[in-house]
Amino acid sequence: MQKKHVLVIGGGAAGFFASANVDPSLFSLTLLEQNQDVLQKVKVSGGGRCNVSHAEFDPRELVAFYPRGYRELKSVFSKFQPGDTMAWFSERGVELKIEADGRIFPESNSSQTIIDCLKNEVLKKGFQIETKTTVQAIVKSENGFNVQTTKADYKADYVIFATGSSPKSLKLLESLGHSIIPQVPSLFTFNIKDPRLEGLAGTSFATSELQLPELKSSEHGPLLITHWGLSGPCILKASAWNARGLAERQYKFRIKVNFVGISSEELKSRLLQHKQDHPKKSLIQSKIFELTNRFWASMLSYCRIPPDQQMASLSSEQLNTLVKNLCESEFDVDGKSTFKEEFVSAGGINLKEINFKTMSSRHIEGLYIAGEVLDIDAVTGGFNFQACWSEGWLVSEALNGLASS
Ligand SMILES: Cc1cc2nc3c(=O)[nH]c(=O)nc-3n(C[C@H](O)[C@H](O)[C@H](O)COP(=O)(O)OP(=O)(O)OC[C@H]3O[C@@H](n4cnc5c(N)ncnc54)[C@H](O)[C@@H]3O)c2cc1C
Repeated sequence: MQKKHVLVIGGGAAGFFASANVDPSLFSLTLLEQNQDVLQKVKVSGGGRCNVSHAEFDPRELVAFYPRGYRELKSVFSKFQPGDTMAWFSERGVELKIEADGRIFPESNSSQTIIDCLKNEVLKKGFQIETKTTVQAIVKSENGFNVQTTKADYKADYVIFATGSSPKSLKLLESLGHSIIPQVPSLFTFNIKDPRLEGLAGTSFATSELQLPELKSSEHGPLLITHWGLSGPCILKASAWNARGLAERQYKFRIKVNFVGISSEELKSRLLQHKQDHPKKSLIQSKIFELTNRFWASMLSYCRIPPDQQMASLSSEQLNTLVKNLCESEFDVDGKSTFKEEFVSAGGINLKEINFKTMSSRHIEGLYIAGEVLDIDAVTGGFNFQACWSEGWLVSEALNGLASS
């Protein structure tokens, strides 16, 4: 009996992982990629090291990292989660390591290892990879699909659609009756011009807190001062969870930063205790929190407190100013900058139109959709790829199951 044919549109993480798990004894498969090379985002990901996944192995905890898709991904991750990703690559000779912050990378520290593994796996199965082939139209016929590309026309029994965030390609799915949630950027840093940050690029804070009062949102975690404003996991998380609200405000909004991550009351009482215990110490010697010397000196200067003033003479007005600026500094954000290590689009195919048991379209039989093309995205740390691996794996399982049933 002739094998059924699968056409995969998009040679990124999702398209490749789905292809790599399709059973070649049941299907022939052709993967179409518009660029000259496949897996280009994998190549540049994680600063060239590819942050493959994240060491959170409980699906219920894992979904909390996805501002969009958390409800739907619970069942997806219950079938294939980061532990399965590690096992999958390990079985194919690629060892992955978990770093202190939970991010998972290849032992080689090179994204090329991941690319080679995925490519080998697809080619080993006898599947075809066609590059420089842009899909221009998909027509559903009675018994399959006719797909028009810049090179040739293809017939397929099944189509796996994994074109990433390309707005032009999303229109192909719109033409098949799918609806699109408008796309906006996610994972970006905040542009701020303010004397409190000047000359402090590179300064980091281990436990900061951030509030976005207009969006009634708050975050905590490491923070970093850059040449353009603020970055670090705390800011990136805020950018992801508020991607749509911030786009609506055209990236002009107010934030409140707590650099020390403790309440004003606690900070005040600790400083008062320090004043009592060490009255002769100068203010510059009185950095009793996890702050860099450079930031402390700059903060004293901003608060107009002489660095050599003794703690004993710290007035309550000076104390209040210092506490306010450390715990409740307000900044005006004006614009965003790209976080070069990782960025994604929020928005894409409406999740209500997907059957998450199989990643199949609820509108078109035989059509499977996976990856960033869906209205699913995560905070930084390997979660975006994990969604691609898990969704791609579900697609292949569904196809393999179809053929053998
Ligand atoms: C700089 C950067 C670094 C990143 N680092 C990380 C990281 O370390 N960890 C992490 O988890 N996430 C990371 N991400 C996010 C991650 O790369 C994406 O979530 C992931 O690549 C999405 O995979 P995908 O297969 O859905 O789409 P893509 O990787 O975008 O692949 C889609 C493919 O489809 C092709 N295509 C589109 N339209 C057509 C068409 N009409 N015909 C034929 N082909 C088409 C595209 O050319 C593309 O190759 C990073 C993103 C960026 C931009």
